Amino acid sequence: MSEVVLDHIQKIYPNGYQAVKDFSMTIHDREFIIFVGPSGCGKTTTLRMIAGLEDISAGTLTIDGSVCNNKEPKDRNIAMVFQNYALYPHMTVRRNMEYPLKIAKLPKEEIDMRIDHAARILELQNLLDRKPKALSGGQRQRVAMGRAIVRNPKVLLMDEPLSNLDAKLRGQMRIEIARLHKELETTTIYVTHDQTEAMTLGDRIVVMNDGVVQQIDTPQNLYEKPRNLFVATFIGMPVMNVLEAQLDENALAGQGFRLTLPESWNKILKKKGIKQGKNLKVGIRPENLSIRFEPSEQGLKGILDVVERLGSMTNVYMTMENGSKIVATLPGDVIVKDSESITLIPDQNALHIFDADTDLSLLYTE
Ligand code: ATP
Repeated sequence: MSEVVLDHIQKIYPNGYQAVKDFSMTIHDREFIIFVGPSGCGKTTTLRMIAGLEDISAGTLTIDGSVCNNKEPKDRNIAMVFQNYALYPHMTVRRNMEYPLKIAKLPKEEIDMRIDHAARILELQNLLDRKPKALSGGQRQRVAMGRAIVRNPKVLLMDEPLSNLDAKLRGQMRIEIARLHKELETTTIYVTHDQTEAMTLGDRIVVMNDGVVQQIDTPQNLYEKPRNLFVATFIGMPVMNVLEAQLDENALAGQGFRLTLPESWNKILKKKGIKQGKNLKVGIRPENLSIRFEPSEQGLKGILDVVERLGSMTNVYMTMENGSKIVATLPGDVIVKDSESITLIPDQNALHIFDADTDLSLLYTE
């Protein structure tokens, strides 16, 4: 059992800056948790507080039922993989991986057994006698992971472990990390600002902004039911389109468009007491738009300005008459011409509606 509980955790740096505001969650045994958010949102600070590398200003950190606020990092049975790998350059791969075990004074036989096991699952057997400078970025990354897992930690922490790798290698290592977690089942907390890593690796994702937890949920729920506009526009590529609109009869009316609402939405708005004329924001994911060339009452009209062909899909960028920019993800073989007038029709059932005053989603329920 390795359960990590953060109970109203806060971090105020000595200069008075509050980097983490009231962070509470229970991370279950074997869970793979992602902290994601823009630069400076407090992800690394939270991870470092769990590791014991940063003091906790307020709140309680519990690991397996034992309060850890004042425990030394070495007594927490946690291993951390850093962005820069932090390998010892003068030591071979084997020595780098052995190091934490020697410090812990494990018997030689046990050390050899653990190194062999880690080297096998990370495919490092042929590299054990090399020094880090004779390794590729991906291999160094694997050594850093090996050094972390040989300790059989209760909790594995990773701080942007793939950010120094090129896109292709990142993709490969991402899959390796997923495999490793499946095999070891170590409770893992992984910091990234890459939403592909977040969505593909996480059992649950914590979206942070400005030191505040925005939503803790499964990847699918974050995508389908974002709690607020920040989460809605942070998750999803290209970014969700957002338009200002008012509730008008059973439709959303904005400058130059009118979108009829399906019955399900009418019910939700009624239940939430949303009155006619209320200022709202409507969110439409690019993949929930389809194209029409002939004039249509429904939909968003504009002039197509940029076409991005990605092979399996095409991103089409359009400017509406009111100046709003809209992006739609269409099939790879869609035929479109620059500067032509088009209409983009949203899938009514996939609309997101936010209160314009609070930016909270009207679809979200606890
Ligand atoms: P990134 O993705 O850029 O690593 P992050 O979400 O991990 O960002 P943190 O490193 O946790 O962000 O930093 C959160 C905030 O705390 C930032 O605004 C940062 O400038 C601030 N901060 C970090 N360390 C200190 C410090 N020692 N003293 C004061 N402020 C700090």
